[in-house]
Amino acid sequence: MIESLIAICPVDNKDDKVQKATGLVSSTSELLRRRVAMPKFAEPMPSFSEPKPPAAPRSPVSRLDISEVRGWLLAIGITGSVIAIIGLVLLAQGGGSTVAGLFLLVIAACALGGIYYFIVTERHKHEEAVRQVAEAHEDALKKHKAAALTARQRFEQQLQEWQTKEKTVREAQANWEQNMYYCHRHDVVFLAGRSAAVRPEDMPNLLGIAGISLQRDLPS
Ligand SMILES: [Zn+2]
Repeated sequence: MIESLIAICPVDNKDDKVQKATGLVSSTSELLRRRVAMPKFAEPMPSFSEPKPPAAPRSPVSRLDISEVRGWLLAIGITGSVIAIIGLVLLAQGGGSTVAGLFLLVIAACALGGIYYFIVTERHKHEEAVRQVAEAHEDALKKHKAAALTARQRFEQQLQEWQTKEKTVREAQANWEQNMYYCHRHDVVFLAGRSAAVRPEDMPNLLGIAGISLQRDLPS
Protein backbone atom coordinates (compact mmCIF):
# COMPACT_ATOMS: atom_id res chain seq x y z
CA MET A 1 0.00 0.00 0.00
CA ILE A 2 1.28 3.42 -0.92
CA GLU A 3 1.36 5.86 1.95
CA SER A 4 0.29 9.41 1.43
CA LEU A 5 3.57 11.21 0.88
CA ILE A 6 2.41 14.57 2.08
CA ALA A 7 0.24 14.93 5.13
CA ILE A 8 -0.89 18.37 6.08
CA CYS A 9 -1.96 19.42 9.52
CA PRO A 10 -5.76 19.93 9.62
CA VAL A 11 -5.31 22.90 11.97
CA ASP A 12 -3.44 25.21 9.59
CA ASN A 13 -3.00 23.10 6.43
CA LYS A 14 0.78 23.22 6.73
CA ASP A 15 3.10 20.25 6.61
CA ASP A 16 6.41 21.65 7.87
CA LYS A 17 5.99 20.46 11.47
CA VAL A 18 4.22 17.21 10.62
CA GLN A 19 5.80 13.85 11.32
CA LYS A 20 4.55 10.33 10.80
CA ALA A 21 3.61 8.54 14.03
CA THR A 22 5.79 5.54 13.16
CA GLY A 23 8.68 7.91 12.59
CA LEU A 24 8.40 9.21 16.15
CA VAL A 25 9.35 5.84 17.57
CA SER A 26 13.09 6.39 17.41
CA SER A 27 13.48 10.10 17.04
CA THR A 28 11.70 12.11 19.68
CA SER A 29 11.54 12.35 23.42
CA GLU A 30 10.42 9.40 25.49
CA LEU A 31 7.36 11.35 26.63
CA LEU A 32 6.12 12.22 23.14
CA ARG A 33 6.88 8.73 21.88
CA ARG A 34 4.68 7.24 24.59
CA ARG A 35 1.85 9.69 23.89
CA VAL A 36 1.77 8.99 20.17
CA ALA A 37 2.38 5.23 20.43
CA MET A 38 -0.32 2.83 19.25
CA PRO A 39 -2.43 1.71 22.25
CA LYS A 40 -2.31 -2.00 22.99
CA PHE A 41 -5.33 -4.23 23.36
CA ALA A 42 -5.48 -4.90 27.09
CA GLU A 43 -8.48 -7.17 27.52
CA PRO A 44 -7.49 -10.70 28.53
CA MET A 45 -8.90 -13.48 26.38
CA PRO A 46 -11.88 -15.02 28.17
CA SER A 47 -11.30 -18.52 29.47
CA PHE A 48 -13.71 -21.30 30.24
CA SER A 49 -13.71 -23.88 32.98
CA GLU A 50 -16.36 -26.56 33.04
CA PRO A 51 -18.55 -26.36 36.16
CA LYS A 52 -18.05 -29.28 38.52
CA PRO A 53 -20.70 -32.01 38.28
CA PRO A 54 -22.46 -33.06 41.50
CA ALA A 55 -20.69 -35.81 43.44
CA ALA A 56 -22.10 -39.32 43.23
CA PRO A 57 -24.55 -39.92 46.10
CA ARG A 58 -23.67 -42.14 49.01
CA SER A 59 -26.01 -45.02 49.63
CA PRO A 60 -28.34 -44.13 52.52
CA VAL A 61 -27.61 -45.94 55.77
CA SER A 62 -30.74 -47.39 57.32
CA ARG A 63 -30.68 -46.70 61.02
CA LEU A 64 -33.00 -48.33 63.46
CA ASP A 65 -34.89 -45.58 65.18
CA ILE A 66 -35.84 -46.95 68.59
CA SER A 67 -38.20 -44.04 69.20
CA GLU A 68 -40.47 -45.38 66.46
CA VAL A 69 -43.39 -47.62 67.36
CA ARG A 70 -41.93 -50.21 65.01
CA GLY A 71 -38.75 -50.20 67.05
CA TRP A 72 -40.68 -51.02 70.20
CA LEU A 73 -42.63 -53.70 68.38
CA LEU A 74 -39.34 -55.27 67.29
CA ALA A 75 -38.00 -55.24 70.84
CA ILE A 76 -41.23 -56.77 72.20
CA GLY A 77 -41.22 -59.32 69.33
CA ILE A 78 -37.69 -60.47 70.10
CA THR A 79 -38.33 -60.63 73.84
CA GLY A 80 -41.62 -62.51 73.28
CA SER A 81 -39.94 -65.01 70.95
CA VAL A 82 -37.13 -65.71 73.38
CA ILE A 83 -39.51 -66.18 76.32
CA ALA A 84 -41.85 -68.38 74.25
CA ILE A 85 -39.04 -70.58 72.92
CA ILE A 86 -37.50 -71.01 76.40
CA GLY A 87 -40.97 -71.87 77.70
CA LEU A 88 -41.50 -74.42 74.93
CA VAL A 89 -38.13 -76.05 75.62
CA LEU A 90 -38.91 -76.24 79.37
CA LEU A 91 -42.36 -77.69 78.63
CA ALA A 92 -40.92 -80.30 76.27
CA GLN A 93 -38.39 -81.38 78.92
CA GLY A 94 -40.91 -81.40 81.77
CA GLY A 95 -43.75 -82.83 79.69
CA GLY A 96 -46.16 -80.04 80.58
CA SER A 97 -49.70 -79.55 79.39
CA THR A 98 -50.57 -79.39 75.68
CA VAL A 99 -52.66 -76.26 76.21
CA ALA A 100 -49.71 -74.37 77.67
CA GLY A 101 -47.50 -75.62 74.84
CA LEU A 102 -49.99 -74.46 72.17
CA PHE A 103 -50.34 -71.12 73.91
CA LEU A 104 -46.59 -70.60 73.86
CA LEU A 105 -46.44 -71.69 70.20
CA VAL A 106 -49.01 -69.08 69.24
CA ILE A 107 -47.06 -66.40 71.13
CA ALA A 108 -43.83 -67.49 69.41
CA ALA A 109 -45.53 -67.46 65.99
CA CYS A 110 -46.95 -63.97 66.58
CA ALA A 111 -43.59 -62.67 67.80
CA LEU A 112 -41.67 -64.19 64.86
CA GLY A 113 -44.33 -62.87 62.48
CA GLY A 114 -43.80 -59.43 63.98
CA ILE A 115 -40.05 -59.67 63.46
CA TYR A 116 -40.57 -60.81 59.88
CA TYR A 117 -42.94 -57.91 59.25
CA PHE A 118 -40.37 -55.56 60.72
CA ILE A 119 -37.61 -56.86 58.43
CA VAL A 120 -39.81 -56.61 55.33
CA THR A 121 -40.93 -53.05 56.06
CA GLU A 122 -37.38 -52.09 57.03
CA ARG A 123 -36.11 -53.29 53.66
CA HIS A 124 -38.91 -51.47 51.91
CA LYS A 125 -38.04 -48.30 53.77
CA HIS A 126 -34.40 -48.65 52.75
CA GLU A 127 -35.29 -49.24 49.09
CA GLU A 128 -37.47 -46.14 49.18
CA ALA A 129 -34.61 -44.12 50.64
CA VAL A 130 -32.24 -45.41 47.94
CA ARG A 131 -34.76 -44.48 45.25
CA GLN A 132 -35.14 -40.97 46.64
CA VAL A 133 -31.38 -40.45 46.75
CA ALA A 134 -31.01 -41.66 43.17
CA GLU A 135 -33.83 -39.38 42.06
CA ALA A 136 -32.28 -36.37 43.80
CA HIS A 137 -28.94 -37.13 42.17
CA GLU A 138 -30.50 -37.40 38.73
CA ASP A 139 -32.20 -34.08 39.33
CA ALA A 140 -28.91 -32.49 40.36
CA LEU A 141 -27.24 -33.92 37.23
CA LYS A 142 -29.94 -32.42 35.02
CA LYS A 143 -29.53 -29.02 36.66
CA HIS A 144 -25.78 -29.26 36.30
CA LYS A 145 -26.05 -30.05 32.59
CA ALA A 146 -28.32 -27.06 32.02
CA ALA A 147 -25.99 -24.78 33.99
CA ALA A 148 -22.94 -26.08 32.11
CA LEU A 149 -24.66 -25.43 28.79
CA THR A 150 -25.58 -21.88 29.79
CA ALA A 151 -22.03 -21.24 31.00
CA ARG A 152 -20.59 -22.52 27.72
CA GLN A 153 -22.95 -20.40 25.64
CA ARG A 154 -22.08 -17.35 27.71
CA PHE A 155 -18.38 -18.08 27.28
CA GLU A 156 -18.75 -18.48 23.51
CA GLN A 157 -20.52 -15.15 23.32
CA GLN A 158 -17.79 -13.48 25.41
CA LEU A 159 -15.13 -15.04 23.22
CA GLN A 160 -16.84 -13.76 20.10
CA GLU A 161 -17.05 -10.24 21.55
CA TRP A 162 -13.39 -10.44 22.53
CA GLN A 163 -12.38 -11.57 19.05
CA THR A 164 -14.32 -8.70 17.50
CA LYS A 165 -12.56 -6.17 19.74
CA GLU A 166 -9.18 -7.76 19.10
CA LYS A 167 -9.78 -7.51 15.35
CA THR A 168 -10.88 -3.88 15.65
CA VAL A 169 -7.67 -2.99 17.50
CA ARG A 170 -5.61 -4.91 14.94
CA GLU A 171 -7.21 -2.93 12.12
CA ALA A 172 -6.71 0.29 14.05
CA GLN A 173 -3.05 -0.65 14.42
CA ALA A 174 -2.72 -0.98 10.65
CA ASN A 175 -4.47 2.35 10.23
CA TRP A 176 -2.13 3.92 12.79
CA GLU A 177 0.94 2.55 11.00
CA GLN A 178 -0.18 3.80 7.62
CA ASN A 179 -2.02 7.03 8.30
CA MET A 180 -1.29 8.50 11.73
CA TYR A 181 0.64 11.77 11.86
CA TYR A 182 1.74 14.14 14.56
CA CYS A 183 2.04 17.91 14.32
CA HIS A 184 4.77 19.35 16.50
CA ARG A 185 3.41 22.86 16.19
CA HIS A 186 -0.08 22.13 17.54
CA ASP A 187 0.60 18.96 19.55
CA VAL A 188 -2.11 17.07 17.72
CA VAL A 189 -2.41 13.73 15.93
CA PHE A 190 -4.49 13.21 12.80
CA LEU A 191 -5.12 10.65 10.10
CA ALA A 192 -3.78 11.65 6.69
CA GLY A 193 -6.48 13.16 4.49
CA ARG A 194 -8.93 13.58 7.38
CA SER A 195 -9.99 16.84 8.98
CA ALA A 196 -10.05 15.69 12.62
CA ALA A 197 -7.07 16.60 14.79
CA VAL A 198 -6.93 15.65 18.49
CA ARG A 199 -4.49 15.57 21.38
CA PRO A 200 -2.44 12.37 21.34
CA GLU A 201 -4.26 11.29 24.54
CA ASP A 202 -7.52 11.20 22.55
CA MET A 203 -6.07 9.04 19.80
CA PRO A 204 -8.39 6.07 20.59
CA ASN A 205 -11.34 8.23 19.47
CA LEU A 206 -9.59 8.96 16.19
CA LEU A 207 -8.95 5.24 15.65
CA GLY A 208 -12.47 4.15 16.63
CA ILE A 209 -11.30 2.07 19.59
CA ALA A 210 -12.36 4.35 22.43
CA GLY A 211 -14.75 1.87 24.03
CA ILE A 212 -12.18 -0.90 24.18
CA SER A 213 -9.97 -1.67 27.15
CA LEU A 214 -6.53 -0.44 26.09
CA GLN A 215 -3.13 -0.23 27.62
CA ARG A 216 -1.45 3.12 27.14
CA ASP A 217 1.86 3.97 28.69
CA LEU A 218 0.89 7.57 29.29
CA PRO A 219 2.61 9.81 31.84
CA SER A 220 0.36 10.43 34.81
ZN1 LIG B 1 -0.32 21.64 13.05
